[in-house]
Amino acid sequence: MTQSMILLQTGGHAVSLYLIQVAYLVATALFIFSLKWMSDPKTARKGVIAGVGAMLLAVIGTLVNPDVVNYTSIAIAVVIGTAIGVPLSWVPLTAVPQRTALSHAFGGLAAGLVGTAKYYLWLHEGPEQLTAFRMTAITVEIILGFLTFTGSLMAAGKLQELRWIPQRPVTYKGQNVINLFLLAVAIACGVALILYPAWSTLFPIIIGLSLLFGILLIIPIGGADMPTVISLLNSYAGLSAVAMGFVLDNKLLITAGALDGSSGFILSVIMCRAMNRSFTNVLFGAFGQVQATSAAIEKKNVKTETIEGASQILEQAQLVVIIPGYGMAVAQAQHLVRELYEQLNKRGIDVKFAIHPVAGRMPGHMNVLLAEAEIPYDRLVEMDSINPEMPQADVALVIGANDVVNPAARHDKGSPIFGMPIIDADRARTCFAIKRTMNPGFAGIENELYYADRTYMLFGDAKAVVGSLAKQLSGGGGIH
Ligand code: NDP
Repeated sequence: MTQSMILLQTGGHAVSLYLIQVAYLVATALFIFSLKWMSDPKTARKGVIAGVGAMLLAVIGTLVNPDVVNYTSIAIAVVIGTAIGVPLSWVPLTAVPQRTALSHAFGGLAAGLVGTAKYYLWLHEGPEQLTAFRMTAITVEIILGFLTFTGSLMAAGKLQELRWIPQRPVTYKGQNVINLFLLAVAIACGVALILYPAWSTLFPIIIGLSLLFGILLIIPIGGADMPTVISLLNSYAGLSAVAMGFVLDNKLLITAGALDGSSGFILSVIMCRAMNRSFTNVLFGAFGQVQATSAAIEKKNVKTETIEGASQILEQAQLVVIIPGYGMAVAQAQHLVRELYEQLNKRGIDVKFAIHPVAGRMPGHMNVLLAEAEIPYDRLVEMDSINPEMPQADVALVIGANDVVNPAARHDKGSPIFGMPIIDADRARTCFAIKRTMNPGFAGIENELYYADRTYMLFGDAKAVVGSLAKQLSGGGGIH
């Protein structure tokens, strides 16, 4: 090869590396804008497009890297990833939390495997490659990556209610001590490996302990704490990506991982606040266990109302507050809820939607469904703003919500949801609760709202009942 050809090749190499850095820089900016835009429903769509664009740039930037050694294995990985990823995108909205947990599991696994590959590669090239900095990054990466992998798989299994995974928290004496001990041993092995990188026997031990710790971390958690734990695992996956960025010397991975890690952490904090729980409580409190201590509900007979009777009361109301929950999502009743809203609106009745931050099965679940049904966004009122208005509401219409309207959270110290802020449906002049049976909600506890003097049950599937109410109000008569 002539000198000019070598120069040309080196120049081409430098140009493509420069272009890759530009692509990474643009991708980083787009990731930041994406997060910003996704925090407001009006700009959320733009945020998603920006995020997808950023990811595409990141992938293209990586593929055109002249250092790529084997395109065949990348192509095989893309095919496998697509085969798993596409069906995952078809899940219903109600299964999004477990789907998200699966994404974190794959993210954690990828980080763990990259860390493992890099360790053995550098070990093979000569232990001098394994500097203290690299070893620290690899240790953090594999511990967080592998514990996120098994922890997220467990969380997804619990949320999917797989038969062979216990849904309720499994606790035993000394559990937290054992868990923390395992983590401490893994960290101690990691520190030893940073000091003596050639002690390769420690490497699989760290991996094993991290995998085990991930499982044991999730076993004692259940009930309404699962979503918080999932966003915490999101945070761990992000941090393992940051460590992976240091291992691979990839600045985009470092920033994207940091954004992922911090947003997951912020979301966990918001959810903890929404449920009035502390982090330590979520991680070590074994929430969701069936509580025998909870004060027995005075079980009077529940009262039911007919579609005609409920419609008459709704027609005479001035302020109706609709409180949607998980049942509305399962029944896919949001479009009929919009019809009902229009019927009430036509009569000049003020209709507001009370949004609890953890109603449904994922943060923002109700906002997404109601936006999909094109209910004006200014009709959606956050919990803290609607509660002072509840005593003036003529009707609180609870559609498939249960835990988020359970008054036990306000006063029953023995209740597992004690302290969780709720929407005060019981303070409205009349409350109608739509659900199919007297079965409990996610937290597995009875709801005294249904036995209250001013509450009337409208038993049935949310779609059928709301549809009947809308039809009755439009003058077409009800199904019931
Ligand atoms: P809940 O899970 O407490 O209750 C839902 C109610 O909907 C059930 O009582 C059920 O009663 C009823 N229901 C189910 N299907 C239908 C249907 N087809 N038609 C009518 N009703 C139906 O829901 P909430 O929204 O009140 O509370 C959410 C709970 O989930 C909280 O405990 C929260 O912490 C937890 N959680 C929240 C997440 C989030 O991020 N938002 C994620 C994961 C959990 P029945 O079977 O009798 O019909």
